[in-house]
Amino acid sequence: MSLQILSIGEVMLELAPAGESGGKKLLALGYAGDTYNTAVYLARLGVTAGYFTRLGDDPYSGELLQLMVQEGLDITGIEQVPGRTPGLYLIANQANGERSFSFWRGQSPAREMFATEASTATLEQRLQNISYAYLSGVTLGILTDEARGNLLRVLAGVRARGVKVVFDNNYRPQLWRDQDQARNAMAAALAIADIALLTDDDEARLWNSGEPADILARCASAGVGEVVIKRGPRPVFVAATYRDGYYHEQIQVDVPPVESVLDTTAAGDSFNAGYLAARFAGQNIEGAAAHGNRCAGVVIRHRGAIVEREIFLREIFQAI
Ligand code: ADP
Repeated sequence: MSLQILSIGEVMLELAPAGESGGKKLLALGYAGDTYNTAVYLARLGVTAGYFTRLGDDPYSGELLQLMVQEGLDITGIEQVPGRTPGLYLIANQANGERSFSFWRGQSPAREMFATEASTATLEQRLQNISYAYLSGVTLGILTDEARGNLLRVLAGVRARGVKVVFDNNYRPQLWRDQDQARNAMAAALAIADIALLTDDDEARLWNSGEPADILARCASAGVGEVVIKRGPRPVFVAATYRDGYYHEQIQVDVPPVESVLDTTAAGDSFNAGYLAARFAGQNIEGAAAHGNRCAGVVIRHRGAIVEREIFLREIFQAI
């Protein structure tokens, strides 16, 4: 089936604090992961989207697949590995209101994507009749050097026949051996990206500068056509129409203030979905950034990465 976009990465089980009962802590089960969150919001916004990952064959992997189908995501090509289980993370609320995350993902089947020729060929095949491939720094970080090379090679190959590549930096230092390894991989991804959706904090931690001018210089030398720099509550910076070493369009789009920010998890992921959905619908970069802000604005008013479907859709349409 032809799709507008295929998102590639890891989705995990999420256990979030949900009160207490009989002296025991209760945890609520959800499913999340940066590239998955973006795929779900894209589908909710009416984009034909698919998700590409690797799961186990346990009941939770089965539930996840069902959930993806319910969300309207195409799951063709997702491999289920017998006897295996997906990654898991627990959220803890700290006394100062911050949240911390504990991960059990080392054994996750997603980490073995593109480790074999067969798995790499499955992706290559899956990318036929797809307009955009979407990946993040997390997608890159969970893979071995060899598998990451395989993924980037497939993307470079399909790009030559017209597939566009969208990349979100999402730098998570704990996924990398050291900063150099992350820098090399992220630079290689930028070199094949048509659209880069970057967060200034992540750029600052990786490259020691999150200034838009420095980010743009890195993107320009990699030849990225369109760059969006997310900066939390500060204006979004967008650069496009890259020609002769220069971005001929450069704009800043204000982020409407959100009074009751409850949880910024997936702010960037949902922004990306809003931005891309608007671009696919033919909006200009300013309109797309405003749409991204609206999506993120809804998501950060609620707890968790994935806001309940009805609430998300109601609030998005109210915000327009
Ligand atoms: P990430 O989740 O990748 O760290 P950011 O924190 O930069 O990304 O946020 C992404 C988007 O979420 C912003 O561009 C903005 O639209 C929205 N956002 C984030 N924090 C706030 C905030 N405090 N108030 C309003 N909008 C916000």
